[in-house]
Amino acid sequence: MNNPFQNAMKQLDNAADIINLDKNIRVILEQPDRVIEVAIPVKMDGGEVKVFTGYRSQYNNALGVYKGGIRYHPGVTIDEVKALSFWMMIKCATVNIPMGGGKGGVIINPKELSIGEIERLSRGYIQKIWPNIGSDKDVPAPDVYTTPQIMAWMRDEYEKLVGHEDPGVITGKPLEDGGSEGRSFSTAQGGVYCIRELAKKMKLNPAETTVAIQGYGNAGSYMAKILYKMGYKIVAISDSKGGVYNADGINPQKADAIKEAGGMLGCYCLGSVCTLEQVPGDGTCRGITNEELLELDVDILIPAALENQITIENVDKIKAKAIVELANGPTTPEADEILRSKGIILVPDVLANAGGVTVSYFEWDQNVKGEHWTEDDVLEKLEKIMVTAFNEVWDTKEKYNIDMRTAAFVKAVERVSAKMT
Ligand code: GLU
Repeated sequence: MNNPFQNAMKQLDNAADIINLDKNIRVILEQPDRVIEVAIPVKMDGGEVKVFTGYRSQYNNALGVYKGGIRYHPGVTIDEVKALSFWMMIKCATVNIPMGGGKGGVIINPKELSIGEIERLSRGYIQKIWPNIGSDKDVPAPDVYTTPQIMAWMRDEYEKLVGHEDPGVITGKPLEDGGSEGRSFSTAQGGVYCIRELAKKMKLNPAETTVAIQGYGNAGSYMAKILYKMGYKIVAISDSKGGVYNADGINPQKADAIKEAGGMLGCYCLGSVCTLEQVPGDGTCRGITNEELLELDVDILIPAALENQITIENVDKIKAKAIVELANGPTTPEADEILRSKGIILVPDVLANAGGVTVSYFEWDQNVKGEHWTEDDVLEKLEKIMVTAFNEVWDTKEKYNIDMRTAAFVKAVERVSAKMT
């Protein structure tokens, strides 16, 4: 159940029905152009070789080169990668950047590998897919558990194989390696621009707005820090090990310090690293599970982890007034329908987390032109794109009396299909 690709196709159907999408375009959009499956042999530190499975799905390039991250996660499946590449196509089209949809994944738990093994895996992945990528073909980037350092190894391996420089082959690189200013926090920053626009529509004022964030990776942790600085009240955060709720608000810098010292987020209540038994189970500040976080009575709930978190199983317990999806695919289509009927506003992933790929597009653009833009320039351009897209989606929602996800898909599918005919 909850096959992400089937969910993605249901979302496509909803939008295609609204605009009466041409049947011939529709059948093409129901499949990726190409899915590459590779076996990646990696020499482990102990001397033995292990073979990992990787994928790259190239969904559609009507608007521009295939674009999208590479995920390292034990739960990667071919259908997940296909769905994520489809969502990349919709995402780029929603924010109107000239990029197509792609995504990669390797079935691996990177926490079980040494740095050296991760480097060899990353280079090995490129050794298998290099003929299919390039700044004029398909441009990967970071996603769950992949980092700027991994992008730098991949760029290096690619350039060795093709025998010439091509910094735009991959984005999300470290600054000193052709990366863009602002890329590290751009996914969160794009989501913040959406929240700012949403707050205007909902007449929310930051100091009185409570926020819960599920997932404390690149997107979630920057989101917590930016919103905290803007005066929002972050009452709950979590990572894969569990989370913390504090009715009086959470200071993300202090949460970072606990994590960096090797503690669970629940130790936040005690102010120092602790054991699971020491985390308070009740009171103003207490440890919570990821499931409990989703069910908190907050103004804004931000899923920033993985797919299929808000499903038919728990949707009736969701109490948030608005949901802003920083993760890809956190809500299933069945849950979407119930949220809509309950009047909960949902800013969909393809809009809310598009800041990442938008600054990736800027990075690629700078690389191919040999330029380096300032952080102010990057943020000014990002803000314009996000605010325009948010309001276009909002207006489309009002025009057809639909939810924001279907509205984003309507805008996106219109743009992609116009290029395909
Ligand atoms: N992995 C990010 C996403 O899902 C960024 C992709 C990119 O920068 O190409 O949007």
